[in-house]
Amino acid sequence: MKNMKTKKTIRKVLVINSGSSSLKYQLFDMEKGERLAKGLVERIGCGGPADHAAALGQVVAELGNPKDIDAIGHRVLHGAEVFKDSVAVTPAVLAKLDKLVKFGPLHMPANIGGIRACQRIFKGVPNVAVFDTAFHQTMPDCAAMYAIDPKYYKKLGIRKYGFHGTSHRFVTLEAARFLGKSPSKVNLVTCHMGNGSSLAAVKNGECVDTTMGLTPLAGLVMGTRCGDIDAAAVLAIMEDGKLTPAETDTLLNKKSGLLALAGSSDCRDICAKAEKGDKAAELALEMLAYRTALYIGAYNTIVGGADAIVMTGGIGENSSEVRERIVNRLGALGIKLDKKANKIRGKAGTISAKGSKIPVVVLPTNEELMIARDTAAILGRGK
Ligand code: ADP
Repeated sequence: MKNMKTKKTIRKVLVINSGSSSLKYQLFDMEKGERLAKGLVERIGCGGPADHAAALGQVVAELGNPKDIDAIGHRVLHGAEVFKDSVAVTPAVLAKLDKLVKFGPLHMPANIGGIRACQRIFKGVPNVAVFDTAFHQTMPDCAAMYAIDPKYYKKLGIRKYGFHGTSHRFVTLEAARFLGKSPSKVNLVTCHMGNGSSLAAVKNGECVDTTMGLTPLAGLVMGTRCGDIDAAAVLAIMEDGKLTPAETDTLLNKKSGLLALAGSSDCRDICAKAEKGDKAAELALEMLAYRTALYIGAYNTIVGGADAIVMTGGIGENSSEVRERIVNRLGALGIKLDKKANKIRGKAGTISAKGSKIPVVVLPTNEELMIARDTAAILGRGK
């Protein structure tokens, strides 16, 4: 019986991204390779649906009560060291997920709540969990460990995990195809730049380093997050304002980055302000570009010379302005911008000039499609 069930062709896959107060969904036809529907339920538990089950009820209604969904793929924030790959959800997997809530107290309950709600509402339909951290689990210890007493790693699991893994993995596969190389032989620096941003160093198709850390706070300058900062600066700020850890968390995650530097978390606003001569916006963009270029240089070394630098995410796919500021800092790598080619938006293309030692390519990401593909592949294999 079981075998017959798992061998069923996975055609329609629902992808769920269940956040603390919102639920995003997309429905794919895997045979046609098409997206059939897409939507968002907001204000869960604060004016909208009471909980994730109620939100999912709304999704079912929006989809017209479908009876033909073969599988459901879920975006899950944190797999820690437990989940190095996407996994079919079983009672044992759910029990392990419950133990990982401490790694994402805000997101994990919503992610797990979304899975449980699907199990109730779509009875008998298999669920797959796809983790933001999984792609980065190949990082060597020298990249993943922090230089603090190892007891904190042993006791609390404090180390670098990295996020946006599904996006970095998707564009790694896309880049291999774009370059005509085998995915297991490709060396890249992948730059996912959106509201949250991270870079990954990819060697032979595997992640060897990434800029985010224990949480998504580390690394680049982001919309509302500060990225890298001297830990002692945080202590000084806490002491001065008599801030609690929770207040400090809010300050660094929600009230820093572009928002704190230049009054908006949206990169388009900052670009528009800089264009009009706003000095704070100009500095914010230069800080963002500088730190990105700094990591591109470092990661190019780590991967032993990249076959390409890949740009993706809302900013990477659309902002000629930010891309130009970054690429202009990469001259020492033998990279030059093709200003005309850099006008592209939201589609694949090379933006570096002919003769550049390393091509810079824009490749749109699609995390939902990656989740749908994993879901179909895992259940198709009968695992
Ligand atoms: P998220 O990280 O929430 O998925 P996105 O990947 O959609 O976000 O990225 C959102 C960011 O992309 C915003 O800062 C937005 O200003 C920026 N962005 C989108 N289009 C453009 C554009 N044409 N020029 C500059 N920035 C853009």
